[in-house]
Amino acid sequence: MTKEDEIPDWVGAQEFYDKYEPKEILGRGVSSVVRRCVDKRTMQDYAVKIIDITPSDKMTPQEIQEIQEATIKEIDILKKVYGQKNIIQLKDCFESKAFFFLVFDLMKKGELFDYLTEMVTLSEKETRKIMRSLLEVVQFLHSQNIVHRDLKPENILLDDDMNIKLTDFGFSVQIQPGQRLNEVCGTPGYLAPEIIECSMDPHHPGYGTAVDLWSSGVIMYTLLAGSPPFWHRKQMLMLRMILAGNYQFSSPEWDDRSDTVKDLISRLLVVDPETRYTATEALNHPFFQQYVVAEVRHFSPYRKFKVICMTVLATMRIYCNYRRAKPVTKEVMKSDPYAVKPIRKLIDACAFKIYGHWVKKGQTQNRAALFENTPKAILLSIAAEAEEAPLRSW
Ligand code: ADP
Ligand code: MG
Repeated sequence: MTKEDEIPDWVGAQEFYDKYEPKEILGRGVSSVVRRCVDKRTMQDYAVKIIDITPSDKMTPQEIQEIQEATIKEIDILKKVYGQKNIIQLKDCFESKAFFFLVFDLMKKGELFDYLTEMVTLSEKETRKIMRSLLEVVQFLHSQNIVHRDLKPENILLDDDMNIKLTDFGFSVQIQPGQRLNEVCGTPGYLAPEIIECSMDPHHPGYGTAVDLWSSGVIMYTLLAGSPPFWHRKQMLMLRMILAGNYQFSSPEWDDRSDTVKDLISRLLVVDPETRYTATEALNHPFFQQYVVAEVRHFSPYRKFKVICMTVLATMRIYCNYRRAKPVTKEVMKSDPYAVKPIRKLIDACAFKIYGHWVKKGQTQNRAALFENTPKAILLSIAAEAEEAPLRSW
């Protein structure tokens, strides 16, 4: 009999249930379920990730062993990153032969993914705050030679003050300096080209920390556009787009975005990992240099006068533009409603209200489908016929 067999199945589980009371489900993963739980002594709320390693028909013993090993690795990394401001804190952990219980601080505001679904798109200012924190976390992880490998809005949680907390270190790994990885893991839409290449070429030299910067670029694009940069209904074609670095700033949302923000994204979504920005380079980009320095300035009559003149000029310009603004006519609404920003936002928000439930966690494709405003060929032909026929009410 091995030492493992001597431990009764329920030891860790009983300890957990003695200390915490599990409540409703907050989220689900492939082999885990996350629930709110209450510390019975302090009545404080936490989140517990329960990882099932029970032998069953659904999983082979080898798969169970893999999950078990991955969870031990996840716990090890969570302990190494403990105390970092923008990383979720592992408070407690229990292990039995059937389950792992990982207790974390509860993030009541949930995932960045859900927040984005609610907001449709984020402003550059909000994106700057989120991306700065994310890149600082990535910079820290990489300084410890830790690669996260699953950066995506579903794995970024928000605390009460809307600060981000990175979670789900299930695919994370600590490498030796300069070590290359070949394992194919992550979420399709966020996979760096070199990971996909590894799956196609057994002799590929492998990948390193740069994969997290690619995913960060995908996240940044998604926050600003509301839909991911690489998307095709057929996954194979989407992977090809990633391999070729084929994405565009063409949707109308990008017309209103600054060149600075586009420049940073285009330095992260670089196919060659050697020339892709590192986290430090990204944080030094002009996009993050705005609104940082709150300078202490001495009174200067010249500067004061200049500011007043510019304010008057700006006010006049806004006033004149307002007077000159073209009215939104029925014709404009019929021919190109997406060209008018407030209408565009309204359409997107309504689409989310009606079809939001289609957006499944972990499937950026579904989210992108809501934004696809290219008519299908068949619909085009119907529309052409309708043009010729007299207008009918719907
Ligand atoms: P998996 O590895 O199975 O993807 P995650 O650690 O990503 O598991 O957790 C799954 C989901 O559970 C998250 O996407 C999130 O919605 C929810 N969740 C996880 N941790 C917390 C937490 N501390 N507070 C609130 N919700 C959480
Ligand atoms: Mg996850």
